[in-house]
Amino acid sequence: MSCMRLDPHSYTDSGQPQTRDIDLALRADFQHRMLEGEITLRFREPGGGAIDLDSRELRIDAVAALDGALLRYELAAAEPILGARLRVTLPAGARGLRIRYRTSPTASALQWLEPSQTAGKEPFLFSQCQPIHARSLAPLQDTPRIRITVGRARFKVPSRLRTLMAAAAKGREDAGGSEAVDLFEMPQPIPPYLLAFAVGDLERRELSARAAVWSERAVVDAAAYEFAEAEEMIRAAEKLFGPYEWDRYDILVMPPSFPYGGMENPRLTFVTPSVLVGDRSLVSVIAHEAAHAWTGNLVTNANANHFWLNEGFTVYAERRILEALEGRESAELHAAAGWHDLQVTLERFAARPQLTCLRTDLRGIDPDEAYSSVPYEKGYLLLRKLEETVGRPAWDAFLRSYLGRFRFQSITTDQFLEFLETELPGVAARAGALEYIDGPGV
Ligand SMILES: [Zn+2]
Repeated sequence: MSCMRLDPHSYTDSGQPQTRDIDLALRADFQHRMLEGEITLRFREPGGGAIDLDSRELRIDAVAALDGALLRYELAAAEPILGARLRVTLPAGARGLRIRYRTSPTASALQWLEPSQTAGKEPFLFSQCQPIHARSLAPLQDTPRIRITVGRARFKVPSRLRTLMAAAAKGREDAGGSEAVDLFEMPQPIPPYLLAFAVGDLERRELSARAAVWSERAVVDAAAYEFAEAEEMIRAAEKLFGPYEWDRYDILVMPPSFPYGGMENPRLTFVTPSVLVGDRSLVSVIAHEAAHAWTGNLVTNANANHFWLNEGFTVYAERRILEALEGRESAELHAAAGWHDLQVTLERFAARPQLTCLRTDLRGIDPDEAYSSVPYEKGYLLLRKLEETVGRPAWDAFLRSYLGRFRFQSITTDQFLEFLETELPGVAARAGALEYIDGPGV
């Protein structure tokens, strides 16, 4: 048995049982700003002994085997970046475990909004788990290496509100009183950072047979207008990268306090309301998040050191989609703006050149602190260089076989390079790929 940490930002140990599937049953308590309930972890293979889970600011109430027998556990002191290791002692042959817990009002994955912070008159709750905040939502193996499906997720919420999850909706049950339970399942295996949900006064407008836009009631018509071309975008992406593997493509327009332009939660992209400009001009934000359905969500970085595999590929894919929809000039304009962003970042990181390599070593560094345009724009430059080195037809064939080879897997930079060498021998060397990957700056 080898015992090894798989990820510098997780307590997950490769010698221990690995999670394959989870259930969630959570009640959203808006008054106390906490989720309370239960997570069930089911393992890939039965195992025994210690299992180390990631957690942050969670209160653990009980840990049990799947048959209900209580298990011994130990919650270590919190480490500033990783959070607190939760070590559970499993009986031999355990197939999973169950944990009763509650989140903290300051959980880093959750934002609880007052009605005054929304477009309407109701409160709003949403999650943002990337890069390492899923552990503040539930105790689990919080590394993209370990992909999980969700057998059943149950969110008990005030019945006048609605839960949306980045998953397949399975209906609503009356929970008595003024509460209801929204049900979901997620059949495609995802890295835990793609667990996502929102609760609010949400309404929907259909965009196509598989796409819809959701938002707070007050802005839903503006949102439907802005994103009318979502289906066209998915089709353009399918032509370039192969079939869309996630069934539905919905967009959720968030309240203004959403901290990003967009977040590529599977089946349900979260976007900032600042894209509602009324002229469909911010199509690149949706092109980017839609492209993640292939690059990032289907083929995922194994850990934050390889984040460029998510974002460099996605910026490249985004600009190919824009080129298909709007022409070469539009894509080049975005590339020029990206080049400018990159120069600004390189100046900002002048004293930390190691953070301007594509492959980073983030041991002891919070991935939120290392976040910059480098993996996005320098990653784009490398992929564009590779395209120019072999020519577009050969490069496009490579991209499709790369996405097919590693679909629903989480990989490292070396795995990408090995596959590139197998498919297109000598091209990495001709393009100077390692200088981009392990060299600082551009
Ligand atoms: Zn992205």
